[in-house]
Amino acid sequence: MLRRLGAETRQVRVPADLAGLDGLVIPGGESTTMTLGIEREGLAEPLRELAAGGVPMLGSCAGMIMLDSEHLGLMDMRAERNAFGRQVRSFEADLEVRGIEGGPIRGIFIRAPWIAEHGPDVEILASVEGRPVAARQGELLAVAFHSELSEDERLHRLFLERIQGRAASIPAAQRR
Ligand code: GLN
Repeated sequence: MLRRLGAETRQVRVPADLAGLDGLVIPGGESTTMTLGIEREGLAEPLRELAAGGVPMLGSCAGMIMLDSEHLGLMDMRAERNAFGRQVRSFEADLEVRGIEGGPIRGIFIRAPWIAEHGPDVEILASVEGRPVAARQGELLAVAFHSELSEDERLHRLFLERIQGRAASIPAAQRR
């Protein structure tokens, strides 16, 4: 999705892969597996430094879980894993997302979390059945669904615009 929108991408597996990144996606998958990988590679501290440097991040599904207070601790919220139920309870829904113009976006929820609790710095951008499923805190964006699996590019476009906005306002030499 990011490449389709013209971004240059690379996979991050070890701390050295973070060097020079303008933005980071923490994708869906399994938060338990990601936690083990992050521990094994010593990625937690470098990821926190990246966030502290204001680098925009997009966490989707398991990525949302990784951003929460019980994992990387980057957002002041707690994501409840598998909150909508097991695999058979996976679903799609059209949702209005604050900050995204042009009508609802298609959310694909695969054993998705929801945001069970959050602090005042976390802005809720969308909900399903009264449960928050999209949120922003500063440059960090978390969604419970997989927008990369739909044809709708607006969420990733929004993410890239944040990155470009930041790049334009900070001289390259000061970016990390
Ligand atoms: N259920 C997974 C977890 O708890 C998340 C699923 C997903 O990313 N689609 O990590």
